[in-house]
Amino acid sequence: MRAVGLHPDVVVVTSRFWQTTATLVRSGDEAFCVDSPVLPDELEILPAIAEQAGFHVVGLFATHADWDHLLGRYAFPEAPLGVAESTALRLRNEPGRAQRLMREFDDEHYVERPSPLALPGAQPLPVPGHVAIGDQQLEVHPAEGHTADGMAVWIPWARVLVCGDYLSPVEIPMLSPGGSRDAYLATLARLEPLVEQAAHVVPGHGAVIDATRAAAILREDVRYLQGLPDAPLPVARRTGAQKRIHAENVAALA
Ligand SMILES: [Zn+2]
Repeated sequence: MRAVGLHPDVVVVTSRFWQTTATLVRSGDEAFCVDSPVLPDELEILPAIAEQAGFHVVGLFATHADWDHLLGRYAFPEAPLGVAESTALRLRNEPGRAQRLMREFDDEHYVERPSPLALPGAQPLPVPGHVAIGDQQLEVHPAEGHTADGMAVWIPWARVLVCGDYLSPVEIPMLSPGGSRDAYLATLARLEPLVEQAAHVVPGHGAVIDATRAAAILREDVRYLQGLPDAPLPVARRTGAQKRIHAENVAALA
């Protein structure tokens, strides 16, 4: 697992699986962890990484309700989980789904975990809105379209955008069940002014990128989505896995 400091108050770790990112953000004595790495050893070492960097994690955020973003409790079992109202709704409406999908992944890849995934009552946050942290405020923005739910987190004093499963350098736009092309395009339009101001953009999957690269990916993703079902895949994202995602997108739109 890679850990990169983007700002004295922002550290990003990237999982060895799916390049899933988790972002530690701090103000004063309080830190939050946004999303989570995937593998048990990564989750086990995350508290030590946070501690060593001087981040006292008191809360968890998940950008959306897909299971691979919900594992923060393994690292910080005491910390409450804050999510968008849309995500809280999805978690309520899909009881056990995240747990089941995590078990299927673990079975497939021979992954052993210390305990089942616990998701006790996520706290819904008003989105769009502000969340106090130390003596600063985080901005949360709606980010739907990949799924039916989601939020992006803007860290104003560090100019870092944590956008969930959008603007990925490794993954094309994915229309999962509950997602929608129109909502996805609306989210990209909403993220655009934040991207323009950003020093760094942290996608849910893949390396941290700068504003120029993020803006280029944003334009490619708009073009791809508008061009569906016949859209060519963005040049840097034409792997076998992305072709499978593309086929699912086409099926979802049909
Ligand atoms: Zn994801």
